[in-house]
Amino acid sequence: MIHIKTPEEIEEFRRCDALSKEALRLAGSLVRPGVSTKEIDSAVEAFIRLHGGVPGFKGLYGFPGSICASVNEEIVHGIPSPMRFLNEGDVISIDTGATVNGWVGDNAWTFYVGEVSDEVKGLCECTRDCLKAGIEQAKPGNHLGDIGYAVQHLAESNGYGVVREYVGHGVGRVMHEDPNVPNYGKRGRGVKLQVGMTIAIEPMITLGTYKNHTLANGWTVVTNDGLPAAHYENSVAITKDGPVILTADDQGPWCNMQGGE
Ligand code: MG
Repeated sequence: MIHIKTPEEIEEFRRCDALSKEALRLAGSLVRPGVSTKEIDSAVEAFIRLHGGVPGFKGLYGFPGSICASVNEEIVHGIPSPMRFLNEGDVISIDTGATVNGWVGDNAWTFYVGEVSDEVKGLCECTRDCLKAGIEQAKPGNHLGDIGYAVQHLAESNGYGVVREYVGHGVGRVMHEDPNVPNYGKRGRGVKLQVGMTIAIEPMITLGTYKNHTLANGWTVVTNDGLPAAHYENSVAITKDGPVILTADDQGPWCNMQGGE
């Protein structure tokens, strides 16, 4: 069932979601060679709780971390670990969610660890463009397929892979609401978008094959060919004036967030 929110609810939702974005910015500021993913996780959890929120992922379906920390060939759902240290040239997708006053924020960014290769930068830049292209389609009268098509077309026309098994989702009072928001599709197909819907759009794009599998820990999804993936996400409301990014702050969602800032 798709939960439609009133304009007043969306405004409250947006205010609450600022914490998810701030948590993501904090996470990015800690990214550097030598840091463990658990250190970032602990700092983000403390920050969210200090500001009156609850980490959105901790315990969700049994997930052990407050963030998802997915390095290089890990696509999503990487488990933070005190033994996983970042190295120069890695990329790390960090997904932070926070619940504040009953509203769930969900957003992700892929950060560079020091200098990364041009090949990987190209992947990340394209994935960010995919997110933007998807968000631009999140307006009343369009369909979910318009979002999926925009993401898929941009990724594939640049030679990248689009992960099929993991998708965006409705977001609101809980982390995962209806509908699913795939990163592939056909224009004009799928659920019609209407004012008051709130969705998380999150392209997961791969340098090589989009085929993937889950590691023995039951969580971490990796590419079958071991090549890197990128992942960016925002929570978005569909309003009469078009898409409104809920997980934005006063610096905006498109600032060039990179590791170690
Ligand atoms: Mg999500």
